[in-house]
Amino acid sequence: MSNRLFNFCAGPAALPEAVLQQAQTELLDWQGKGLSVMEMSHRSEEFTSVAETAEQDLRDLLNIPSNYRVLFLQGGASQQFAQIPLNFMPEDGSADYIDTGIWSAKAIEEAARFGHVNVAASAKAHDYFAIPGQNDWQLSDAASYVHYTPNETIGGLEFGWIPEVGDTPLIADMSSTILSRPLDVSKFGMIYAGAQKNIGPSGLVVVIVREDLLGAARASCPTMLDYAVAAKNGSMYNTPPTFGWYLAGLIFKWLKEQGGLEAMERINKVKQQTLYRAIDNSELYSNPINPADRSWMNVPFRLADDRLDKLFLAGAEERGLLNLKGHRSVGGMRASIYNAVTQQAVDALVAYMAEFEKQQG
Ligand code: PMP
Repeated sequence: MSNRLFNFCAGPAALPEAVLQQAQTELLDWQGKGLSVMEMSHRSEEFTSVAETAEQDLRDLLNIPSNYRVLFLQGGASQQFAQIPLNFMPEDGSADYIDTGIWSAKAIEEAARFGHVNVAASAKAHDYFAIPGQNDWQLSDAASYVHYTPNETIGGLEFGWIPEVGDTPLIADMSSTILSRPLDVSKFGMIYAGAQKNIGPSGLVVVIVREDLLGAARASCPTMLDYAVAAKNGSMYNTPPTFGWYLAGLIFKWLKEQGGLEAMERINKVKQQTLYRAIDNSELYSNPINPADRSWMNVPFRLADDRLDKLFLAGAEERGLLNLKGHRSVGGMRASIYNAVTQQAVDALVAYMAEFEKQQG
């Protein structure tokens, strides 16, 4: 019997129980080889098969075209904020960035250390409660790429559409939305995602990059940060995060067993509808985001009186509903409902929210 509770953490986030169980079964002795995945050479035949299978399963799930390379890297999504300009923006170059909240702002701040950043659109005018419409974007001809954050994990603001940016490569920080539903990878120059939400444990970042964009890194780009070097070496220029890679592979298999991303889309759609409906139909809870731009994976909400926050969180914990406290920068509550968070967990949360509201009478 499992005594696992419902975990709504934004990241590191809940992982599928079946995957954790498999990892547990294989921990001491991976497939009868007499050692764990953590203890194998990354260049061994055994780990090579783990690595290649994981990549192929991700390719199948996202239908990644053959002219894209998949890289399994380190440094989290935050390191990508620097790695992207180092690889794609020339020394005196510039790039367009879309500002939709805290994570895109961090990407902008970091890129500005390496060249000119043109903030082509910002959600600031809407208090970060709505995505700026494409008609208002001021894209520049000089931009080496356009960067945006399809899902703002803290604000709970998500693009329901893919921007049209012509021939300029589109780069997306998909950390908190990747694998939540099908995606047309061919629309992007590059996609990156920290693993610790929908992919696996922290310590791993997945990059999907169009091959023709590789090889143009600045001369000053550190070897370890050059995507072309990583691609040429099969993400093994140095020792990769082998256990995270293996666990990501188990997640990709699990996703396939669930029916792939079409199935996840159906499941995730109902989950978010359940939660937003509960918020919208209540007098106590609110979510300020423009309904068309609401995040599927991260649902922030406030109580009408924030003096009730502590009581709400204590009652939630008593019922086994963990990690509902909002990000420290914004307060309130946030329920992250990634792929491994079940409809049952969402139903339990919604039931508790109704019970708590009734108690306040
Ligand atoms: N981008 C987004 C959208 C995120 O949600 C996060 C982490 N919550 C990051 C970047 C930073 O990721 P990491 O901690 O892996 O550097």
